[in-house]
Amino acid sequence: TSTNIPPMIRKLDENVVNKIAAGEVIQRPASALKEMLENSIDAGSTQISVLVKEGGNKLLQIVDNGSGIRKEDLPILCHRHTTSKLREYADLETISTLGFRGEALCSISFVSHMAVTTMVRGAQYGYRVTYKDSEMEAPGPRPVAAVPGTTITVEDLFYNVPTRRKALKSANEEYGLILDVVGRYAVYSTGVAFSCRRQGDSRPDISTTAAGSRVDGVRSVYGADVARELIPLKVAVGGGTGPEVPVDGPMGMSVEGLISGANYTTGKKTVLVLFINGRCVECSPLRRALEGLYGALLPKASRPWIFLEVRLPPRQVEVNMHPTKREVGFMHQAEVIEEIRRAVEAKLMASNESRTFAASA
Ligand code: ADP
Ligand code: MG
Repeated sequence: TSTNIPPMIRKLDENVVNKIAAGEVIQRPASALKEMLENSIDAGSTQISVLVKEGGNKLLQIVDNGSGIRKEDLPILCHRHTTSKLREYADLETISTLGFRGEALCSISFVSHMAVTTMVRGAQYGYRVTYKDSEMEAPGPRPVAAVPGTTITVEDLFYNVPTRRKALKSANEEYGLILDVVGRYAVYSTGVAFSCRRQGDSRPDISTTAAGSRVDGVRSVYGADVARELIPLKVAVGGGTGPEVPVDGPMGMSVEGLISGANYTTGKKTVLVLFINGRCVECSPLRRALEGLYGALLPKASRPWIFLEVRLPPRQVEVNMHPTKREVGFMHQAEVIEEIRRAVEAKLMASNESRTFAASA
């Protein structure tokens, strides 16, 4: 009809754009924490400590002993798309850092009160800065006594996004999700000591050492019941998994894993700790394939515990699939999953046989 006038199209205000983007990257305390953990790992830290208050709603603090941040970079630290990790788009093909989008700190600064204390190695003192809506707040970097590394404090997450705040689960459940993230990285990153503690508690809920083995990590994060039942898994398929393998190259893969065997019957839900080329990711088709395998073997209500470190040729992996980097895309997916499934199956059959032998001996 004649009253149906097209609405005018306008460009969104920068601030609105940033707020929308922030909601995409930072969904809950655990997603903010994951981004900050990855930054600490990218900075070469060997010690990472997390402190949490009220499930991360009130406070998330992460202390690392990594490279620190140069004073000159502090003014743009939380700008959108500022990063020390990526230069050319083509670099994404072989990127070895977890971050590359330059969005996490920006996003967090839009939905919280954020403070950064940082000191580079060899400096006399560090600097402390606070940020709001991606901008450094006046009066800028203040010299403070510090130790080398970076401490980021995020307070009152989603204070200005009431709908998001309301959608969060209880503080206990949000804390559980935080522990899940820290636990995964703690198991994967041997050589880095992790701790995660609730403010007010004297003991941390997660505490691993830098010198411990992967199984030590599993023991301290997931418990002795799991660690005791783990079977090592190794798979190597095809040619190389290095940066030299072209996009259209043949399938190559290497996997190192730890999987629970037939004796582990106390698992209440499937735990699949999956790292593909160093990234903590999810892969539902792989999870389903493994659940199917164990379903046929284990008593009805029990679920497996599985750690897999998968290496694929970097050019065959697409890391830029999702703002949270929760998934990666990779080529030859069906074969990759099938090879892993077969290897796990073989291990399980062997472990099941030895159990039967042990029981009947
Ligand atoms: P990205 O990780 O994608 O680069 P972020 O917004 O997460 O983007 O971080 C922006 C930049 O801030 C990083 O590229 C890095 O240079 C610096 N940075 C963030 N956290 C740390 C940290 N804990 N230690 C040292 N540098 C850090
Ligand atoms: Mg990052």
